[in-house]
Amino acid sequence: MRYSLRRVLWEGLRGQSGWKPAWREPEKRDSYDVVIVGGGGHGLATAYYLAREQGISNVAVLERSRLGLGNVGRNTTIIRSNYLLPGNIPFYEHSLKLWEGLEQEINYNAMVSQRGVLNLFHSDGQRDAFARRGNAMRLAGVDAELLGAAEVKAMAPLLAMENTRFPILGGLLQRRGGTVRHDAVAWGYARAADARGVDILQNCEVTGIRVEGGRAVGVGTTRGPIRAGKIGLACAGRSSQVAAMAGLRLPIESHVLQAFVSEGLKPLIDCVVTFGAGHFYISQSDKGGLVFGGNIDGYNSYAARGNLPLVEEVAEEAMAVMPRLGRLRVLRSWGGIMDMTMDGSPIIDRTPVEGLYLNAGWCYGGFKATPASGWCFAYTIAQGRPHALNAALSLDRFATGALVDEAGTGAQPNHH
Ligand SMILES: Cc1cc2nc3c(=O)[nH]c(=O)nc-3n(C[C@H](O)[C@H](O)[C@H](O)COP(=O)(O)OP(=O)(O)OC[C@H]3O[C@@H](n4cnc5c(N)ncnc54)[C@H](O)[C@@H]3O)c2cc1C
Repeated sequence: MRYSLRRVLWEGLRGQSGWKPAWREPEKRDSYDVVIVGGGGHGLATAYYLAREQGISNVAVLERSRLGLGNVGRNTTIIRSNYLLPGNIPFYEHSLKLWEGLEQEINYNAMVSQRGVLNLFHSDGQRDAFARRGNAMRLAGVDAELLGAAEVKAMAPLLAMENTRFPILGGLLQRRGGTVRHDAVAWGYARAADARGVDILQNCEVTGIRVEGGRAVGVGTTRGPIRAGKIGLACAGRSSQVAAMAGLRLPIESHVLQAFVSEGLKPLIDCVVTFGAGHFYISQSDKGGLVFGGNIDGYNSYAARGNLPLVEEVAEEAMAVMPRLGRLRVLRSWGGIMDMTMDGSPIIDRTPVEGLYLNAGWCYGGFKATPASGWCFAYTIAQGRPHALNAALSLDRFATGALVDEAGTGAQPNHH
């Protein structure tokens, strides 16, 4: 069923009786060409691009819960491609370009909003670092603008510019960055993959990976065994646990990251703003709530909820950059499990187990990567080798030393 204005009007006239479920609830089959473990954004996008780009539609996506309940539906919805390193820029820019055409392509309103991402700087040294990043972006054909204090103030009048502990000297702006409605991304990719023949099996937890003669040949699930020609893992925060089922130990720690949303307000902030003297970012949803977050809680956890010290820290940072938020009432907060790598960059690659592929290590930045991650992972699985776009995001870089350490902080997952 195609979604369109005509369809909305027609269904309105006949009592909304013609809508169909956005995807099927198929019976599990005994075997598939490709099994994807994890029905988050990355798993669903991979299935879609396997069918669309690689011509492989005998695919199952296995999700232990229901679609959209993982990080794909828990994030703060920010998309951008403002990276510094050559291993990252082309990949994230590919993702941003895919976002730009996604809604037309999959016929689904994901509320892609290119409202701009503004990173504030507060010292001369930080301005130089941001100028360097902006120049690297422009050299790679990505949009970037270095703004002075007056331009920043005009863009986000709520900011306290001067009379604060961390005066704002300017900002690095990527106008093509912005936000996307997160759970719509899961639903949109699910619907598009289903339409191409992919089976989406919800409430189907993978409990084991069957390896015969060094090759992955199937999975055990709570709904029975499934044989597979190839298996792709896209389990985000639970990547280490699932990879361990095939005997793999990943260079990943799981941490909790929290997010917050306020009561609905009139339009107040029309871009994404990030504080440069700490870790705080904020935007306003189309419903009017301010959506914001900060750092990870800083300890290993598989709990999708956080603790109070980080709530206090985020509130302090909000007050440091926008003191008027002190009168704001927070409506909800929640947490998600982050798969933090040792260099802060993700992994899209083969594994030492033949036929087993890995998509993991998204830290707290994997939402923006969803389209390119699915696109590259589908290529890697179908062709049995990485695409040039994900060649640097290899699993063996932690052994060879070819790290992609965007923040330059070394093997400290809580510092990336
Ligand atoms: C609070 C918060 C804010 C964030 N903000 C941003 C942001 O603004 N921008 C950005 O780019 N990124 C952000 N992120 C990060 C981003 O959400 C994640 O990196 C990304 O969503 C991870 O990929 P995914 O969508 O596939 O994960 P998920 O949706 O978590 O998908 C993984 C799926 O695997 C399933 N699974 C796990 N184990 C099994 C098993 N054994 N069998 C079957 N299924 C299994 C899980 O149930 C889950 O549904 C944020 C994350 C959080 C928590």
